[in-house]
Amino acid sequence: MALTGIQIFKLLPKTNCKECGVPTCLAFAMNLASGKAELDSCPYVSDEAKEQLAEASAPPIRPVVVGKGVRAFKTGGETVLYRHEKTFFNQTALAGTIASDISLSELETKLKEWNAFQYERVGLNLRPELVALKDVNGDKDAFAEKAKAITETSEFNLVLMSENVQVMKAGVAVSGFKRPLIYAATESNLDDYGKLAKENNLPLAVKADSVEGLVPLTEKLSAMGLKDLILDPGSREIKQSLEDLVAIRRAALKDGNRSIGFPTITFPCEMASNLDMEALITGMHIAKYGGIAVLSDFSGEALFPLLLERLNIFTDPQRPMTVTEGIYEIGNPDENSPVMITTNFALTYFIVSGEIEGSKISTWLLIKDAEGLSVMTAWAAGKFAGDDVGLFVKKSGIEDKINHKEVIIPGYSAAIAGEVEEELPGWTVTVGPREAAHIPGFLKAR
Ligand code: SF4
Repeated sequence: MALTGIQIFKLLPKTNCKECGVPTCLAFAMNLASGKAELDSCPYVSDEAKEQLAEASAPPIRPVVVGKGVRAFKTGGETVLYRHEKTFFNQTALAGTIASDISLSELETKLKEWNAFQYERVGLNLRPELVALKDVNGDKDAFAEKAKAITETSEFNLVLMSENVQVMKAGVAVSGFKRPLIYAATESNLDDYGKLAKENNLPLAVKADSVEGLVPLTEKLSAMGLKDLILDPGSREIKQSLEDLVAIRRAALKDGNRSIGFPTITFPCEMASNLDMEALITGMHIAKYGGIAVLSDFSGEALFPLLLERLNIFTDPQRPMTVTEGIYEIGNPDENSPVMITTNFALTYFIVSGEIEGSKISTWLLIKDAEGLSVMTAWAAGKFAGDDVGLFVKKSGIEDKINHKEVIIPGYSAAIAGEVEEELPGWTVTVGPREAAHIPGFLKAR
C-alpha cells in the first residue's frame, strides 16, 4: 500500500532547503504521494529512507518496457485519470495478430504490408509497434519458426500468445533477446509462466476472468519477484471491458492498490467480427485505458485514425503541439521561390504547408517559434511581433537561399508589416491571405 504524504514527510530531512523545487519538505512529500514528484529531486534523502520510500515514490501504475530496438516501447506509468489533470505519458501500443500456422512466404508478405503502414505527422513517424503471434495448433516448432522470422526480419516487437508452456518456451528461446511479452499467465499455469518470465527477464501478461480475479495472481507473481506485469481482466464485451479498464486505473490511482497497479492489454480482435468495429473499440481503449490493444489485422483506413487519435490523446493538453523553428522546403524551392512565414503551432504548419503543396508552387516556409500559438493568438500575445519576425528572417539564413528580398507574412498579422520592414531594410513585406485556404489562389496569382 502506498504511503500517505504525512508518512513520507516523516522520512524526509525537514530542512525546507527548496532544492527539490518546492518551498517545503511537506509540499514535496505531498507531491511525491500523488505521483507529481520524483524522489531523486531531493538530494538529501538517506539511503534508509530511500528504501522505505521506494514504494511510495514508484508510479501508481508500473511502467513496463516491451521489446528491444527502435520499436521498443513503454506502457503504463500513468499518474492521472483524466488527461486534462496532467497528461497521459505512454501511448497505447497497437498489435496485429498473426496465426502460428501461417506459411513463411505469407508471413513475409504480411510483414511487408504492415511495415508500410507508416505516416508522418508533426515531424513524427506514426506506426504500429507489435505483432501478436498466436499459437493456433500447439505446434511449438511452427510457433518458434514464426517468432524467429518476425524478430529477425522486421522491426515489430512481439506478443507471444500460447496457453501451452512448451510452445511458449520454444518461442521465448528464439525471440527472448527482443524482450517479447509473454501472454498469458493464468491460474492454471501461473508457476510455469512466472518461472519462464523470471528466468528470461521478460514482461508477463496475467489473465483472469475479472478484475478481482487478477489480484491473487499478481500478488503471487510479485512474491516470485516479477515486477513487469500486464493485466488482462478477461472482459471481451465492450461495456464490461471499459468498466474493467476504468476500475483498474481508478483502483491503482485513487486507492493506491499496488496489486493492480500495472498497465493493461486489451483484445478488440476478440470483441468484434470485423475490423471496422475492432477499430472503434480500439479507439475506446486508446482513450481509456488500454496499454496494448491487439487487433486481428491492420488496414490503412482502420490504423490511420487510431494513430492520430493516439497522438492526440497522448500529448500534453497544457502544451500546444509545435514544429521546430526553421526553414521548411515545400516542394522543390529554388532561389526565385516565394518565402512565406508563419508560427510554429503544429496545426498552423500542417494547414499552411498543405495548402502550399496543393498550389504546386514550390515555396520556402519559415516557421517562427511563437510558443505553439496560432498566428492571431501569437500576434495578440506579442509572440509574433514585427521586430521579432524581422530578426528571425535575418537570422534564419533564408537570404543565402534566394536571390530576392520579399517575405510574405500571414494576413492575420498585417499590422506587423511596418515593423518587419523596419527590421529588414531593403526587403518587401507582402501581406498574404488571412485564410490558409486562399494561399493557392494567392500564390498562383503572383
Ligand atoms: Fe526538503 Fe529535500 Fe526538498 Fe530540501 S530538497 S526541501 S530537504 S524535500
